[in-house]
Amino acid sequence: MHNTTTESVIVMPVERKDDTYALRLCLNQGLMTPGMLRRVLEVIEKYNLPSLRATTGQRMNLEGIPTDKLDEICDALGTRVEKCAPGATVCPGKGICKYGIQETADLGNAIVALVKKNGPYPFKIKSGVSGCKMSCGLSYVRDIGLVATAKGWDVLFGGCATRNAAPGVLIGESVSADEALKLLEKALIFYRENGKKRERTAATVARLGKEALLAAVKA
Ligand code: SF4
Repeated sequence: MHNTTTESVIVMPVERKDDTYALRLCLNQGLMTPGMLRRVLEVIEKYNLPSLRATTGQRMNLEGIPTDKLDEICDALGTRVEKCAPGATVCPGKGICKYGIQETADLGNAIVALVKKNGPYPFKIKSGVSGCKMSCGLSYVRDIGLVATAKGWDVLFGGCATRNAAPGVLIGESVSADEALKLLEKALIFYRENGKKRERTAATVARLGKEALLAAVKA
């Protein structure tokens, strides 16, 4: 017998140019259970929606929601929020990927909790966790970046992938996960206390100098 259980999904409306909405599925680390997939597919078929598109932040956008059906479709999917809770881009890591040398999922969740605990910040924080130096979690160009090594984690802060793309400052080398979280907490506080409104971490570090950041995390 086929399993027909469905699971609710947290969704955030995103306005589009053509008077429709997309509904962003607020996924954690890109994971969708079979129950969530069933619920989404039911809604796609019932409302004849055109597409489901992956985002760079490991979420999904359900496109083509007519404005007059927005509330009804949100209810059909699950819970509507104004903003998805901040997440992290986390690669599959050692347990799944043949190249992985460290597990990534728990550390990804710990980073999300750490960012939440120490906010608010001058601007958004993007995080990436990668299970090896191929950096599929985009760790080198995220505000917070973690890259697995044979002995632990390289820790970067202040990377960016915009027009002036540059890797973050290396604030820890092959440290334990606990040590990485301690260093990152100090870096986040440094940014929270010194960043200007709407200034990303990379710009704050460029303005104040990487020595100031390194002094803050070593204090
Ligand atoms: S970063 Fe490494 S471990 Fe993670 S998905 Fe890419 S190749 Fe695999």
